[in-house]
Amino acid sequence: MAKDLKKYKDEILFCPLGGTDEIGVNCYLYQYKGKWLIVDLGIGFADDHYPGVDLLVPDIAFLISVKANIAGMVITHAHEDHLGAISYLWQELRVPIYTTKFTASVLKAKLSEAGLADKVPVHEIKENAKFEIGPFDLEFIGITHSVPEMQGLVIRTEKGNIFHTGDWKFDPDPVIGQHTNMKRLKEIGDEGVLAMVCDSTNIFVEGHSGSEGELKNSLTDLIAGFKKHLVVVTTFASNIARVYSIAKAAEKAGRKVSLAGTSLWRMYHAAVECGYMKDAPDFIRPKEINRYKREELLVIATGCQGEANAAVNKLSRDDHQDFKLQKGDMVIFASKIIPGNEVKIFGLFNKFCKSKIEVLTEKDHFVHVSGHPAREEVAKMYELVRPKIAIPVHGEPMHIHEHCNFAKKHGAKHTVQVEDGMLVHIADEPSVVGHVQTGKMAIDGNFILSPDSEILKMRRRMRDDGIVFVSIVLSKNGRLLKQPTIVAPGVLDSREDADYYDNITEEVREYIQAHNKLSDGDMENKIRTIVKRFMKAEIGKHPKIFVQVQRVAI
Ligand SMILES: [Zn+2]
Ligand SMILES: [Zn+2]
Repeated sequence: MAKDLKKYKDEILFCPLGGTDEIGVNCYLYQYKGKWLIVDLGIGFADDHYPGVDLLVPDIAFLISVKANIAGMVITHAHEDHLGAISYLWQELRVPIYTTKFTASVLKAKLSEAGLADKVPVHEIKENAKFEIGPFDLEFIGITHSVPEMQGLVIRTEKGNIFHTGDWKFDPDPVIGQHTNMKRLKEIGDEGVLAMVCDSTNIFVEGHSGSEGELKNSLTDLIAGFKKHLVVVTTFASNIARVYSIAKAAEKAGRKVSLAGTSLWRMYHAAVECGYMKDAPDFIRPKEINRYKREELLVIATGCQGEANAAVNKLSRDDHQDFKLQKGDMVIFASKIIPGNEVKIFGLFNKFCKSKIEVLTEKDHFVHVSGHPAREEVAKMYELVRPKIAIPVHGEPMHIHEHCNFAKKHGAKHTVQVEDGMLVHIADEPSVVGHVQTGKMAIDGNFILSPDSEILKMRRRMRDDGIVFVSIVLSKNGRLLKQPTIVAPGVLDSREDADYYDNITEEVREYIQAHNKLSDGDMENKIRTIVKRFMKAEIGKHPKIFVQVQRVAI
């Protein structure tokens, strides 16, 4: 591919490395004048295909191959699916990063936790500012979302202008942060936009996403109406406006407020550093909760998606180090039930219900608004920006497909149904000109693993079928010096399945005694076949089998 790229040196190329086969792992590349611009580098959540793994990052093999020509990285906003992978991958790229003050503050806190605090050059750019990175003539445009300082990005080139929306919604009352710069969006449209790369998350949702301001009123009424017992509200830590609304609602209801969870404190400090939440009440440390009367307290807690180590999960299993919930307390999930997390979240609802703790969720109360645009807002965006080409991103293939249909109905002459790794030539007649290596890598402790790595393959096998170890000790002339040792974790129960162990051990022992002239390699293969046949016939499973023959010089 590298050779062909030269052909497009003075053209605009676009390539999603993540974010178009799923919602998450956002990483978008633009090429112009032979230089690459990275927009966002986020994480995604691992599913059952990655046992023991929580987080995924994009495969950046392609970026490493063009490393010398990367001009820099722009981060649109402070969500994990847009900046969460930087602390894992930056060492491989070592590029300068450009973003606004709040996003920089959140990023720096994360880099500092990863021991990269002073290594990564993070350049702060003002909201709505114009700036340049290599050949890229850029402009930030502030748009509302569910975190402060979300910036859409205008990329001006001699070949045409691109508008990269980032994640957005049109919120007439965002509670915290600036309003959408509608006037500027229209001016950008007037100037002429060749292509718009746009958020597809809620393309199936009719109407409008709703406003944080309206939600603030609803939360205020709900919290004021609950007079007794402790109230816990869980939401996304990065939604500063939501955290602020909840804190103000608590204050109005005469309750002190505590924050439970590291990410809430991290986001709160970043917000204060940037001048937000100035009139929020003073937050109490969770350690001090027990000094206050329960009915005079509200705790904002992490874990609205059922994350195992977050505060709400700990409360559900009565395992929080600082306080416990009691019968009659209330837990409000002021958050979306994100598809894929239903089992974990409903598990929490059920645990609380069993303990007679009241649960309010988006299913039965107005406790959440999305940060992404519904169809009415997407239509308005097309009306303002009027792109010739629509390139939907931030979605699964079905979202992207639907968004393409929607864009055609709203004036886009061309649409490109992109997939991760696709190289798109953005021109009057856009075309797909190639594919680059792409995929997801798994964050496994301190390692980054390919999904095809032996470690993950083996872990899947062990999870699904268990493993069997057979250890055989022979003398130099093939005499069995001790009973073969067989262990089968995940296949046989060491206490209850003694008969099975005895039978297979006996079968192996008899075979060795009758075939003591075999080489070690042949012996291992034969024993593996015997054990495999036994496990299939007796247990009905296909575990991975390891056989080791040791010779002792007797
Ligand atoms: Zn996002
Ligand atoms: Zn976002």
